[in-house]
Amino acid sequence: MSQPRPWNFSAGPSVLPEPVLEQAAAEMLDWHGSGMSVMEMSHRGAEFSQICDEAEADLRALLGVGDEFAVLFMQGGATAENAIVPMNLIGRSPERHADYVLTGSWSTKSFKEAGKYGEAAIAATNDAPFEDESGAFGPLTWVPAVADWRVRSSAAYLHLCSNETIGGVEFMDWPNANTMASLGAPDVPVVIDASSHFLSRPMDLAGVGMLYAGAQKNAGPAGVTVVIVRRELIGHALPICPSAFDYANVAKERSRFNTPPTYAIYVAGLVFKWLLKQGGLPAIEKANATKANALYGYFDQTSFYRVPVHRSVRSRMNVPFTLTDSSLDQAFLDGAKAVGLNQLKGHKSVGGMRASIYNAMPLAGVMALIDYLQWFEREHG
Ligand code: PMP
Repeated sequence: MSQPRPWNFSAGPSVLPEPVLEQAAAEMLDWHGSGMSVMEMSHRGAEFSQICDEAEADLRALLGVGDEFAVLFMQGGATAENAIVPMNLIGRSPERHADYVLTGSWSTKSFKEAGKYGEAAIAATNDAPFEDESGAFGPLTWVPAVADWRVRSSAAYLHLCSNETIGGVEFMDWPNANTMASLGAPDVPVVIDASSHFLSRPMDLAGVGMLYAGAQKNAGPAGVTVVIVRRELIGHALPICPSAFDYANVAKERSRFNTPPTYAIYVAGLVFKWLLKQGGLPAIEKANATKANALYGYFDQTSFYRVPVHRSVRSRMNVPFTLTDSSLDQAFLDGAKAVGLNQLKGHKSVGGMRASIYNAMPLAGVMALIDYLQWFEREHG
């Protein structure tokens, strides 16, 4: 690389590990002596079969996922899953009930989509302000206590978004079988949209029915959606479910029911290998905690910037913050860009700033951001 690339804080598609990009570049014209780019291979040939099977095996190894789960590489993004999930699972409930925990814009979108396929209900929501001994918080910046969730025992599943990418709200854990029993819904499986913190830390899937994630944050390029679903939940697709979206078909054909996003799966596979080389999810979690603690630690000792999210659920991946004086926002962004800190503008629906610090963002990038935050505060504070 002739000059260092800027630090990229995009929420997704987002920064990928540089060794992965370099390997993909080196293998662009000729994958492993095959004489073909991965883009040019048949999805049913021996070469791509090896790539796809290895990606699945490496992902299973990373997450510790056994054969009780199907691991699927699908298309359509997490947005398509908002429809694909109910089309596949809601038929488990004769009344077509499904319950949703709403903690921000992504879970709300999931809830709204599910209403097309059955009777979706809100199990809990953070759409009101919240106050405790640590302060006052606005809507969408906290997570309702699990004990207060109302889950119907008739629900086909309980859906939550475990990391709200826009609001920066992260679930540190989620209900297991015991918790679901205490909520009066022992047989209701938990379904998780983990898109924006997938593979950022070990995840306990013991009580989870299904987890899905668009790849374009921590797992690879846009175009592939990872679906991890308990095999016992498969086989209840509504008659209207397109065959290509029926988990039974995709699982049976090991993600090759129709042409999958081959190149995206290949790059995701390189990311999985990179993660294994880093020491797997425990090691990447440690690195992520160090980065997040450094950044939040800086924000906590100044009143020039403000983090709106309740301390207990601050996301380690997406860090929203505001400048107390919002008239400085544009100057902040322009100055950041000038020193190689890119894509810090907050989502248009909430304004302010957001630093996404995914797995592939090195600590050096976070330290560069903190240096800039400090400098800007000195200049304008
Ligand atoms: N869920 C979450 C948590 C997300 O962050 C996003 C995208 N930012 C989506 C769903 C939608 O993903 P896609 O655009 O790939 O459909």
